[in-house]
Amino acid sequence: MVTTYIGSILPILVLALGPVLASFLAAQVMRENGFTGAKGNRSVCDHCGYQLQPIDLIPLLSFVMLRGRCRKCGERIDPRVWLAEIIGLTLFGILAIGIDCFATTVSTDGTAVFGYALFGGIVLSCLLVLSIQDIFTFSIPLRFTQISAGIVILANILAVIVRLADPGALPWLHLGNLDNLLCGLAYAGFFQIIIWLTKQKGMGSGDVFIGLIIGLSLGWPATVT
Ligand SMILES: [Zn+2]
Repeated sequence: MVTTYIGSILPILVLALGPVLASFLAAQVMRENGFTGAKGNRSVCDHCGYQLQPIDLIPLLSFVMLRGRCRKCGERIDPRVWLAEIIGLTLFGILAIGIDCFATTVSTDGTAVFGYALFGGIVLSCLLVLSIQDIFTFSIPLRFTQISAGIVILANILAVIVRLADPGALPWLHLGNLDNLLCGLAYAGFFQIIIWLTKQKGMGSGDVFIGLIIGLSLGWPATVT
C-alpha cells in the first residue's frame, strides 16, 4: 500500500520539482552575476519593477500564459530563465520516468525506490546547477564542478561500500562499477590531453572535472538503459 503510494506519487513530485528548482537556481545565478535588478528574495520585472505575484512565478506555466512577457509592461522576460526551466523539466522528467520504471519493474520496496530517487536527484541536481551556470555565464565556476565531482565520487564509493557488505545489493544502480571508474578517468584524461595539446586555449581544468562527472555517473554508454 505504502509502496504503491510512493511509486505513483514520487515521479509526479520529482517532475514538478525540476522546473521549480531550475527557476530558483536561475534567479540565484542572475542575482549573483548582476543580470537582474532584483534585491533580496522578491522577484521583480527588470523593465518596470513590477513585483511578480505568486501566479507569475509558476515555472513554464507562467511563460505559456504570458507569452514570455511581463504582465504589466509587456517587455520580454529573459528567455534564459525559461531555458533553465525547460532543462530542469527535462532532467527531472528523465528521473521521474526512471523512478516509475524502477518502482514497477525492479523493486517494489519503498526504501529502494526512495534511495533510487535520492541518488538520481543528487546527480541530476549537480548537472542542473552546472547547466544553469553555463547558460548565464558561459563558464562554470571551478568550485561548482569540483563540488559536483566530489558528490558523484562519494555516490560511487557509497555504492561500492554497500555492495561490499551485500554483493547482490543495488543491482539497478549504475554507480560504483568498474566501467564508471574507467569512463570517468578516460573522459577526464581525454579533456586533460586536449588541454595539454591546445595549451589550455578555450578549455580549463573545469572540463576535466566535467569529464570525470559524466564518466562516473553514466559509465559505459552501452550499459545505460
Ligand atoms: Zn515589466
